[in-house]
Amino acid sequence: MSNVNFCTRCGFEVTVMVPPGDNLPRHTCSRCGHIHYENPRLVVGCVASWEGRLLLCRRAIEPRLGYWTLPGGFMENGESAADAARREAKEEAGADIIIDAPFAMVSIPHINQVHLFYRGHLGHDGLSPGEESLEATLISPEGLPWNQLAFRSVAFCLERYLADAGRNCFGFHETAITPP
Ligand SMILES: [Zn+2]
Repeated sequence: MSNVNFCTRCGFEVTVMVPPGDNLPRHTCSRCGHIHYENPRLVVGCVASWEGRLLLCRRAIEPRLGYWTLPGGFMENGESAADAARREAKEEAGADIIIDAPFAMVSIPHINQVHLFYRGHLGHDGLSPGEESLEATLISPEGLPWNQLAFRSVAFCLERYLADAGRNCFGFHETAITPP
């Protein structure tokens, strides 16, 4: 559990306890009773194609600075998952993507994240890397930087994408990643 010391609602000290009717310990305010739930976060991205090449970004931020990834990031409140994928592609690559379908879901329990990838395509090939990217570029399947990918979820998504593209039959893929 993370270190929540004070209630986000009233500022009083919190204690770790199992609330009535619950079965896991939570940081609970001993004055107002507010329960600070912590749940996995959703990271949304997209594998987007343009004339047989795929959009990848090289990260300008930690973690995995300098490594290649699919555009993606944490969802914001108030947006749909598809909105998040489009927003991240715009922010990280300057890309306007059209979403075709959900494509892969990767649970990563040891870091409390779920990564959801759509597949889609670019509306045009104009790209401009945002502040979180060193480069944003279209890469042919033969040129993918497999040993310089930032995250295993990205590798899973790209592997499945190329396999499906080879059969010209796209499905939906799920896996869970365990600690390295
Ligand atoms: Zn409180």
